[in-house]
Amino acid sequence: MKPAINKNITYLKPSATLVINERSNALQQSGKQVYKLGFGQSPFPVPKIVVKALKANAHQKDYLPVKGLMTLRKAVAKYNQDKFGINCTAEDVLIGPGSKELLFLTQLIYQGELLLPQPSWVSYEPQAQLANKSHAWLSTKRSNNYMLDAATLEEHCAKALNVPRLLILNYPSNPTGSTLNKQQLKELAAVASKHKVLIISDEIYGDVHHKGKHISIAKYYPEGTILSSGLSKWCGAGGWRLGTFVFPKELRWLVDQMAVVASETFTTTSAPIQYAAVQAYEGGQEINDYLNRSRQVLKVIAQRTHELLKGYNIICPKPKGGFYLMPDFNEHKEALNKKGITTSHQLCEALLEETGVALLPLSAFGMPDDFLGARLSYVDFDGAKALKLIKKNPNADAETLAPKVIEGIQLIGKWIK
Ligand code: PMP
Ligand code: GLU
Repeated sequence: MKPAINKNITYLKPSATLVINERSNALQQSGKQVYKLGFGQSPFPVPKIVVKALKANAHQKDYLPVKGLMTLRKAVAKYNQDKFGINCTAEDVLIGPGSKELLFLTQLIYQGELLLPQPSWVSYEPQAQLANKSHAWLSTKRSNNYMLDAATLEEHCAKALNVPRLLILNYPSNPTGSTLNKQQLKELAAVASKHKVLIISDEIYGDVHHKGKHISIAKYYPEGTILSSGLSKWCGAGGWRLGTFVFPKELRWLVDQMAVVASETFTTTSAPIQYAAVQAYEGGQEINDYLNRSRQVLKVIAQRTHELLKGYNIICPKPKGGFYLMPDFNEHKEALNKKGITTSHQLCEALLEETGVALLPLSAFGMPDDFLGARLSYVDFDGAKALKLIKKNPNADAETLAPKVIEGIQLIGKWIK
C-alpha cells in the first residue's frame, strides 16, 4: 500500500531527545567511547521505599479511574499544597502516562495560539503541529539567561487583543538550567492575567532546584495556571511514565474534557505505578534525604562544568536547577565557520564524530539554525554511587562524583582549541 500519512504528521521527525539517546547507546554498544551528554534523564535510582511500594503493588491489575487513583490525586494535591503553597484539592489533579502526554492533550483541546519562549523544550512545538495549532516564538536575551521577560510577553499580547493564548513556561529550564525569581514570576503573572493568557507552568525540574528553593507562578496567577510535573525528574523515574497536572478550580471544564480524550485514547495510567507513586508523594525522611543529596550532587557538577566551559570561552547561563547547561560556542564562530561548521546541528555532529561527546543542537529547541549552541545534560554518571559518596563526604567534588562528565567537558575544551 502507498504511504498515506496525515498532513499534520508527514513533516515531523522522531523527537531529537529520543534519537540522541538511541544513537548514543548504539554507538556505545558498537564499542565506541561515548560521553552521553545528549539525552536528559535523571541519573539517580528511584528511592528504595518507592521501588518497594511498586513491588508490593505488582498484583494491581484492574483499570483505574481515567483521572487517576483517588489516593494518588489526594497525595499529589497535598504535596503541592505543602511544598509550593498551591491551593488545590484532589479534584484539581489529573494523572497521566507522563506529563508529555498531558501537555499534548491540553494543546489538542485548548483553542488558542501557543506561545513559546525561545529556546523551549523540544516537544512543545511538534505537539502544536500534531494538534494543528498555530504558535509563536517569543524572543529572549542572553542578559536575561534566555528566559522570557514580562515586557516581551506584553508586546506580543498587545499586537492583537482578546485572542485566546496558551503559554508554556518551563523553569528550571530545559535547555538552560536557569530559573525565574519571585519578581520575574510576579511580572509575568501580571501580564498573563491582564491578557487572560492560560499558562502551563512546566515545573518538572522544580524539585531539583539546586537549593530546594523553587517557586511556582501558580502562587501569583492561581486562576490561570496549570502546574505540570511528574515523577520523571525528581524521583528518577522517567521510564515509569507518570505525570501530574494541577488545575485551578476555574478550569474544571478542561480537566473534564481532558478526561474525555484520555478515556478514548490511553484510558488510564498503569495501576502498579500509580499505587507506588502514592508512596513517592507522601514523602518522608528517606525521600527528603534522597532529594537533598540529589540536589547537592547536581549543584556541584553543574558549577564545575559551568566553570570549566567558561575557561574555554564557551558561555552559558549559570545553572540553578535541573541537569542542563546551554553552552554557547558563538565566541568561536569564525574558527568553526572555517571548519565548515555553520549550524548547531553540524556543531553537534562534528563533536560526536571527533570527540565522542553527544550533545543536542539548539535548533531542536527553536533557536535559529546558525546559533552555534547546544544543550548539555550533565548526567552521564552513576547516580547511586554519587548519592553514597555525597552522604559520606558532603564536600565531594565533581571529578569524584561524575568523572566521565568532566572528561567529556575537557574533550570539548581541547576540541574547541
Ligand atoms: N517537560 C520538560 C521540560 C522535559 O524535559 C520533559 C522530559 N522528560 C517533559 C516535560 C516530559 O516529561 P515526562 O513525560 O517524563 O513527565
Ligand atoms: N526530557 C528529556 C530530554 O529533554 C527526554 C525525555 C523525552 O524527551 O521524553 O532529554
